[in-house]
Amino acid sequence: MSTQVETRLIDGKAIAARLKEEVGQEVSELIAKGIQPGLAVILVGDNSASQVYVRNKTRSSTNLGIHSEQVNLPSETQTPELLKQIGKLNRADHIDGILVQLPLPSHIDTGKILRSIIPAKDVDGFHPTNVGRLCIGKPVLVPCTPMGILEILRRENVPMSGQQAVIIGRSNIVGKPMALLLLQEHCTVTVCHSRSQDLAGICRKADILISAVGKTGLVTGDFVKPGATVIDVGMNSIQTLEELELLYGQDTKRRESFDKQGYCLTGDVNPSQVIGMAGALTPVPGGVGPMTIAHLMKNTVLACRRRRIDSKRSRA
Ligand code: NAP
Repeated sequence: MSTQVETRLIDGKAIAARLKEEVGQEVSELIAKGIQPGLAVILVGDNSASQVYVRNKTRSSTNLGIHSEQVNLPSETQTPELLKQIGKLNRADHIDGILVQLPLPSHIDTGKILRSIIPAKDVDGFHPTNVGRLCIGKPVLVPCTPMGILEILRRENVPMSGQQAVIIGRSNIVGKPMALLLLQEHCTVTVCHSRSQDLAGICRKADILISAVGKTGLVTGDFVKPGATVIDVGMNSIQTLEELELLYGQDTKRRESFDKQGYCLTGDVNPSQVIGMAGALTPVPGGVGPMTIAHLMKNTVLACRRRRIDSKRSRA
């Protein structure tokens, strides 16, 4: 495919670092007032990817001065035991945010668990009350990945009002809240999913294209309007050299990472085709991922302010 456009790679790591710096500043101000925001992360079982995510979340919060607790429970844990644990954290005044790492083992009722976290401490923004508030345009705690994407678009000065936004994926975690956030920014929003017909044709109309599917190489050059902003949320793993070359050609850094780890992280976008079509693109890794964690920190501080300062002030 001939190169038509110069594609700017969006540095999600740098944007996340700036956001974390701002959050760290807020944490210092709160600590100076005698309030230390607190985050509790619950991990059930020994899923290795979940262990890495949880470790990163706890490390990031500690680095910013947020009090952080990790609750590890064995995979045999039953729903009532987990509810009891969440109940304790709901009542603990020093804990402002509670996060249950998903996916939970299949015998646990995930919906019931997520509904048991009080909305004021629901830093993932998954509680029906928080989802409802987002829906009616009165958001409090918004899911971290879509909020991180919105922050990327804002900080990269991507025009939103009146623009066509297409989201591939309709999950409760990414696709749906993303659609609501972009509606609030006055985009015209289309949400696609596995039964959408003429996916490439719909996507080609997008000024902002967001892919949150989890399928390597789904977004090819013919999905992209020249100059569009493409946000790649997908997190997939490349297992073969053939696939690596198909997506990244002779990219030596990727090859080195593949040789070292035996796999390579990638998103939904086929970079060999989309670079040269998109105006801007978030890479994987280093695009949306770091913003998700940064927003979790931001939500924890927001939850702390609302519960420990604003609500006390309004009661006074
Ligand atoms: P999910 O719950 O599995 O949802 C995937 C969505 O993609 C579904 O709506 C599905 O449609 C749609 N889909 C599947 N195949 C499709 C196809 N061929 N064409 C069009 N749509 C298709 O996944 P998720 O939790 O939203 O996550 C999506 C991806 O983002 C995953 O790779 C995940 O790892 C990644 N992720 C990354 C971050 C981050 O911080 N970077 C955070 C969250 C998620 P149906 O509804 O019709 O099944």
